[in-house]
Amino acid sequence: MIKEKGILFVLSGPSGVGKGTVRKELFERKNELKYSISMTTRDKRPGEQEGVDYFYRTRDEFEHLIKQNKLLEYAKYVNNYYGTPKEYVEKMIEAGHDVFLEIEVQGALQVKENFPGGVFIFLLPPSLDELRSRIVNRGTESEKVVLNRLNAAREEIELMDAYDYVVVNDDIDRAVTKVQSIIQSEHLKRERV
Ligand code: 5GP
Repeated sequence: MIKEKGILFVLSGPSGVGKGTVRKELFERKNELKYSISMTTRDKRPGEQEGVDYFYRTRDEFEHLIKQNKLLEYAKYVNNYYGTPKEYVEKMIEAGHDVFLEIEVQGALQVKENFPGGVFIFLLPPSLDELRSRIVNRGTESEKVVLNRLNAAREEIELMDAYDYVVVNDDIDRAVTKVQSIIQSEHLKRERV
């Protein structure tokens, strides 16, 4: 286990809840967080870029990284692997930077074991109906994948009690402001110690 000099913030929650949008807006506002870019075996969506949105890898490459213990956490999510490269996160935290992860729930729970000092934030949709229409409106998934993602969402929501904070994403601007407040208050908490 490494000495945690920076703070690890983990934003999690079901697919389609708007984690990516909240994260992008958060990084557009002034902040000093380092974003950890994930690895995935899923296909690139239109407009996405290697090394910006994800590091895209084949299944074999990904499984090799798992065997070499290069991932801080990983999960199989709707038939694809997603994972967080370990070295970047550990280096940044040890150097005193705050790191921000945006990952699904199984992975977040794994991170909790390695980073007990991490701050875990669950982004909750206003309702499952709203979540469904957000995934459908994104227009990038087939009907079967939409259903799989909704089923995954139901299971993920049941795990939200394991998190430090729950933020309802009824409005992006408000949700981002709440995440910023969480970041500030976690810093204030640690200054006191
Ligand atoms: P998408 O395919 O929509 O980009 O992502 C699907 C899900 O995988 C989302 O919930 C996203 O937050 C999650 N995800 C992205 N990167 C990682 C990662 O490194 N680890 C884990 N466990 N989940 C991730």
